[in-house]
Parts: sequence; C-alpha cells; structure tokens
Amino acid sequence: MNCTACTTPLDHAAQLCPPCSRGLDTRLSELPGQYLLLGPELRPGAGRTDGPVALVRDAPLPVREEVLTLRSEGGMVAVLETWREAMQDSRGWGPPARSGTIERRVMAAARALRMNLDWITAEFAGAGDMAHEIRALAGQVRALLDPAPPTLALGDCAADLGHGDICGAPLRVPAGTTTVQCRRCGTDYPPRTWVALATGMWALAGQAAA
Ligand SMILES: [Zn+2]
Ligand SMILES: [Zn+2]
Repeated sequence: MNCTACTTPLDHAAQLCPPCSRGLDTRLSELPGQYLLLGPELRPGAGRTDGPVALVRDAPLPVREEVLTLRSEGGMVAVLETWREAMQDSRGWGPPARSGTIERRVMAAARALRMNLDWITAEFAGAGDMAHEIRALAGQVRALLDPAPPTLALGDCAADLGHGDICGAPLRVPAGTTTVQCRRCGTDYPPRTWVALATGMWALAGQAAA
C-alpha cells in the first residue's frame, strides 16, 4: 500500500504516510491565521482608524483579485468545509453546520479536520486528494502573503529638472506603503497624483501648459 498523497510505500495499511499527515496538520493549523493576515492586504490603510476618511478613500486600492477570491464564500472556506463534509459523510456523520462569519467557519472547519486527522490518515479514502488540495491552497496563500510582493509601476517621473529636462525615472509604489519618491531626483508623488502619472495625463497637461 502506498501513501495516497505522495505514493511512498507504507509498511502498514493507511491513506497517508507520516510526513504527508504532518504536513497536512501543519497547513490546517496555519490556514485560519493566514486567512486573517490576508485581510489587511485588501486595502492598505483601510485598517487605520486615526486618519481622515478621505485619506482612506484616496489610498491606493491594489485589490488583488486572488485575495478577494480566497477570502470569499467560494475560497478557502469552501475548500475546508467541502473536505470536512466529505470526511463526516465518509464517517456516516451528518453535514456540519455552516454558520457565523467566514473567518469563524474557516477556523471551525480547519479545527474539525485536525481533530479527525488520525482517522483521515488511517482511513479516509479522500485523504490523498485532500492533502493535495490543502497543499495547493496553502501555497497560494503563502504566495499572496509573501513579504516582498511585486511593486506597482506608476509611470515615469514627470519632474522638470530645468530647461524642460524631464527626469523620466521609473516610479514604483513600494508594497504596503503610499509613499512614492523618485529615486533619481527625489520628487515626492502623493497618491492624488498617481492616476495622472499612470495614465500619462501628467505629460499631456505639461505639454498643454508649455
Ligand atoms: Zn505521503
Ligand atoms: Zn525624478
């Protein structure tokens, strides 16, 4: 008999080898916390309550589709609850209740799966598929929580260095901040200037004024 997740030969009848079972347990223990961590990623600055509302509204909204999807009804919670239900069904139990906030449901489903991990490891026919899916989910989450996500390109620095000599250095919004300063000439670009920069409107306005 082989591990249904990694196909390693097993010396006793089971669905998962010890490393695959441990990996599954670790991922299930980390997912609820990661779900919470994905929250602030939606809108940098949105979590601050000390600033004026306008500041929050004007903040850049690099709403990442993947983050939204993962946190939605059909995302992480669906993967965990579907496996919990399959596990319970396989044990002859009724379907679990799905109530409360998504955050609580993620926690409840992950906990229920961990509490049944011994049985899943030994008997659950879906264990290999479940281990694969949870691993893929955890990988997706980790990629989104990467401490160095790609920065956002804004366009080129429009500062006039004198005599119509436009700086032109590429500008980027560093991840997790709203502070943009040209690395070449030091000009500051507050968020309200970004749309003009990114769309090239700035250059057009400059030309019109010249
Ligand atoms: Zn394995
Ligand atoms: Zn510049």
